[in-house]
Amino acid sequence: MTALEAFLAACRDVLDPAGLVREAEARAPHEVDFWGDHRGRAAAVLRPRTVEQVRHILAAAFRHRIPLIPQGGNTGLAAGAIPDDSGRMVVLSLARLDRIRHVDPAGEYLIAEAGCVLAEVQEAAARIGRLLPLNLGSAGSCRIGGNVATNAGGLDVLRYGMMRRLVLGLEVVLADGTLVDRLRTLEKDNRGYALEQLFVGSEGTLGVVTAASLRLVPRPRHRLTAWLALAEAEAAVEVFRRTREAFGELLAACELLSDAGLDLLVRHLGARRPLATTGRWHLLLELAWGFASDLAPALEAHLAALYEDGLVRDATLAQSEAQRRELWALRERQSEAAARAGRVVRSDVGVALARIPQLLAKAEALAARLVPEALPIPFGHLGDGNIHLNFVVPPARREEAERRLLPAVAELAVALGGTFSAEHGIGRTKRALLQRHARPGELPLMAALKRLLDPYGILNPGAVLPDQVAPWRPGDGT
Ligand code: FAD
Ligand code: ZN
Repeated sequence: MTALEAFLAACRDVLDPAGLVREAEARAPHEVDFWGDHRGRAAAVLRPRTVEQVRHILAAAFRHRIPLIPQGGNTGLAAGAIPDDSGRMVVLSLARLDRIRHVDPAGEYLIAEAGCVLAEVQEAAARIGRLLPLNLGSAGSCRIGGNVATNAGGLDVLRYGMMRRLVLGLEVVLADGTLVDRLRTLEKDNRGYALEQLFVGSEGTLGVVTAASLRLVPRPRHRLTAWLALAEAEAAVEVFRRTREAFGELLAACELLSDAGLDLLVRHLGARRPLATTGRWHLLLELAWGFASDLAPALEAHLAALYEDGLVRDATLAQSEAQRRELWALRERQSEAAARAGRVVRSDVGVALARIPQLLAKAEALAARLVPEALPIPFGHLGDGNIHLNFVVPPARREEAERRLLPAVAELAVALGGTFSAEHGIGRTKRALLQRHARPGELPLMAALKRLLDPYGILNPGAVLPDQVAPWRPGDGT
């Protein structure tokens, strides 16, 4: 019997029949990513229902040296949850581990298993009048374990930070099946090292997350949402700065779209332009707060001042929840509109706020030089300094355009003091970039941790770390 068959037999012992999937058709959705950009082939897909089953699977994989790819909602944008095409890897889907184990009666936190869909956890928080301040365009499909493993960002980061800030504790199964119970629930708890944080953003390479305790916040009861048209990217940065100064932490979102992007929404999804006046850039601003007070007059006066100072060409405030949803849909459906227009080369860069105009201008010039037929559709979380510099290209040119554009865009972001991976992680698509742009000491220490926690390299091999990194050993630096 091969090691793989022995491993699968050990899994069969503890899983129900639906827990082990081998047929090609049933495996297929686990072998391709959300946008259909990356495909692989798995030997099998395992779908445990309990933490004990996860432990058993990992212990058997450790014994038989079987490579496992942890997978949540499979919405990741770095091909981190997709097996390679060898047919040797086994996908470990956490989707059926989907219980909300506990909701704190005082509303401070909840404990959700890794397979809970983000939108369902958001709803559980809403039912007790609280907010889980993590919101992604993929909320209906992505799962808590994936959100933890990628340290997800999204639309609430400006105010509440990335996933890392919401994780109070984790339950993790290590490569050999050891359970690490760090399901802490207190905001203040300094017993020993912050082990749980090591697994946040580790993309399935250090352990398998089985549950998370997540901080909840009071639910804002009032929101004001504005759409602004601007001529210059510099104005967008200045508008953000002045709005933050005027409204402080009430500013909950500041998202950027380009006019070219808005055009795609109109052409391919039948969207309506929110303003008759146009401009090169558009901003979606949102204020959110809990206390009873009407801030509309203050926001209107603020927008009027921005207009008089020549920063804004035109602006509108949503007058109803339906209008608010319509404005947000423009932002949330930007990627979908781009995907209708051709194939999309995606990036996820971050720079200091003041450098965003430079980033946008240089990226456009770069694309014009390297792939003249690429249509730049930059958009994203301006307030976080995080822009998705995306490009629509003819389908036949995607791979080549990606090869030309992505390293150049990364180079640009790094030259501006920023990052080539702001919120989507490294996965399989940015490993070479991680290696190329690594800072002193980082990779050897990462490799040392990887070797400690996963000595046989069975956890998501081929993701995050480059193959050839010598781990740090004490004495190396002297
Ligand atoms: P998967 O794709 O299944 O996995 C992602 C990585 O985590 C893989 O490396 C996988 O091995 C690992 N992993 C998954 N589950 C576990 C586990 N239980 N234990 C250990 N490792 C695990 N991301 C943002 O940050 N911000 C956004 O605004 C945003 N918007 C998006 C919009 C759309 C339309 C789409 C398609 C994606 C978007 N994403 C965004 C990317 C994606 O949704 C996030 O990265 C999300 O956190 C991934 O969750 P998932 O459950 O789908 O993970
Ligand atoms: Zn994003």
